[in-house]
Amino acid sequence: MIKDPSCIFCKIVEGTIPSKKVYEDEDILAFHDINPWAPIHFLIIPKTHIPSMAQANLDDPEHVALLGKITALVPKLALQEGAAPYPEGGFRVMVNTGNHGGQEVHHLHFHVMAGPRPWMRG
Ligand code: 5GP
Ligand code: ZN
Repeated sequence: MIKDPSCIFCKIVEGTIPSKKVYEDEDILAFHDINPWAPIHFLIIPKTHIPSMAQANLDDPEHVALLGKITALVPKLALQEGAAPYPEGGFRVMVNTGNHGGQEVHHLHFHVMAGPRPWMRG
């Protein structure tokens, strides 16, 4: 498990910064976004410090397993957090990557947004 001592999401993983948890296992943590854009807005992160989606490595079986697991967790956690079922309900998944992608926190995270519109953005 890689940790970056200056990373706020690594601090959330270790518990030094509190978060409202949605899901946790040995590899993955999901928690509510502190500044939600939608009625339901949480983040899913790998516990290990990967700076962004740009570092996702197809040749690393750990990365492939982690990204597969995070993606497959999205519908389960969205329903758990109150998203209405597809297709009337559903959700949006967003992975901001780099400056042009609008990334502010450089620890890979999947935004999951759901709930009745309008939303604050988008
Ligand atoms: P980005 O722009 O990097 O994709 O999004 C980072 C997200 O992390 C933002 O939506 C922001 O509200 C959220 N965030 C930043 N700091 C914290 C924090 O300390 N706790 C939680 N729960 N969310 C945070
Ligand atoms: Zn980190």
